[in-house]
Amino acid sequence: MGREMAADRADLVIVGAGTIGGWASYFARTSGADRVIVVERGRVGDGASSRAAGMVRAQGGTPTTVTLGRWSIEFYRRQFALLGTDSGFRELGYLILATSEDEERAGRERVAMQRGIGLDVRWVDADEAVRLDPCLQVSSLRGASYSPNDGCIDPVRNVRAYSLAMQAAGVELREGCGFTGIETTSTTSGKRVTGILTDTGPIETSRVLLTGGPQLQSVGELIGVPIPAGAVRHQVAVLEPHPAFQVDRKAMAFDLSGGLYWRLEEGGLLFGMSNPQEPPGPARSIDWTYLEAMRRRLADFLPVTEGLELRKVWAATIDYTADHQPILGPALSADRGPIEGVTVASAGGHGMMWGPAVARIAADLALEGKTSLVDVSPLGLDRFDAEGRSRLATDPIALPFPKSPHPALPRERGREMSTRR
Ligand SMILES: Cc1cc2nc3c(=O)[nH]c(=O)nc-3n(C[C@H](O)[C@H](O)[C@H](O)COP(=O)(O)OP(=O)(O)OC[C@H]3O[C@@H](n4cnc5c(N)ncnc54)[C@H](O)[C@@H]3O)c2cc1C
Repeated sequence: MGREMAADRADLVIVGAGTIGGWASYFARTSGADRVIVVERGRVGDGASSRAAGMVRAQGGTPTTVTLGRWSIEFYRRQFALLGTDSGFRELGYLILATSEDEERAGRERVAMQRGIGLDVRWVDADEAVRLDPCLQVSSLRGASYSPNDGCIDPVRNVRAYSLAMQAAGVELREGCGFTGIETTSTTSGKRVTGILTDTGPIETSRVLLTGGPQLQSVGELIGVPIPAGAVRHQVAVLEPHPAFQVDRKAMAFDLSGGLYWRLEEGGLLFGMSNPQEPPGPARSIDWTYLEAMRRRLADFLPVTEGLELRKVWAATIDYTADHQPILGPALSADRGPIEGVTVASAGGHGMMWGPAVARIAADLALEGKTSLVDVSPLGLDRFDAEGRSRLATDPIALPFPKSPHPALPRERGREMSTRR
């Protein structure tokens, strides 16, 4: 009832009730923030978070992304003890396949880096990869990196888990409440937030966390903060049950050069991919032609899938960043000046595998301005130039998202695409 009143106040307001905003609100409350309000334009989980494929891996391409994945898997594992609910994490193991000499060399180097920071991962030859997934039949297979501890979550169950956690922690969730702007005051170094505006009234606060997944760029535009976070169609499908997939455990796999991944689901097989030739923009429909191309590529790796019927197919808009890394740091105006008290968080299209860690860091930054989870100093908005290009090297383990020109530039839509994940 009091939500229309001007005296509405919060210690922290979070924009967006996806997996990042949802888990961040829980972490903020349990870290001592007194009143945490989450404003969500639609309903909790309405964005990418309820539509994901649920692939979760600590096999990142950089030490930072390994840490984010590992922390998130540990969080998923302890959820039930902590919260009495969970996101449905299942340990299946994950093979990142190499089908060329270059991929094998890069894969072996990656494994050395990951093992150097303590990840349980190893290089397996083609025979061992086939033992881990007996359906694999591809003559060009040279081997794979393999971590037995990677797995998957159930994205819808994850939305339920963070919703319950928010409720238990006393977070105030306001659905149907669109964020429209902020109020600021001038300081010696620029400006500081004093409140937010929503389509149901203002909320006084000195701390704001902006999330938005594939809509983060437009959330930033509302307050004059350029955020080079992209959005593009991503398709996922599930094949009908088949005896080959009616097993408790079989390694998930990622065809690194094509950007196609698959895993067990409901006695069948889930697979997903983006079209590397497609320009960025929101997904509004299923691209059936491209789905056929995905099926053919899948059958090249797993002949058993040929001719199997589809049980489910969906297309949804996925978030991404130019370097495939998360965005974590203060909001910067177009003149690069910080807006004190406003923090920005994006998982860069990896919200299932890195979501809990990104949310933990986002809560730390919003409340304390620092985090001990990982060094986030390179991950802020200041790494992007005016054209939206990043000065960081690209994480080599990522989907083939649009590459350039960056979608933060509304005047052009990119056609050149990365071919690596
Ligand atoms: C088909 C598909 C498959 C995927 N598969 C995987 C996978 O296997 N593994 C993986 O790690 N990641 C995967 N992802 C990516 C992952 O889902 C996202 O990175 C993650 O969900 C992003 O979470 P988020 O909270 O940042 O954004 P979202 O979940 O999109 O939440 C943002 C919320 O902000 C709200 N919002 C926007 N604007 C406003 C406003 N002005 N005011 C108030 N609220 C607003 C939206 O309504 C939305 O609910 C997949 C994504 C898709 C689409």
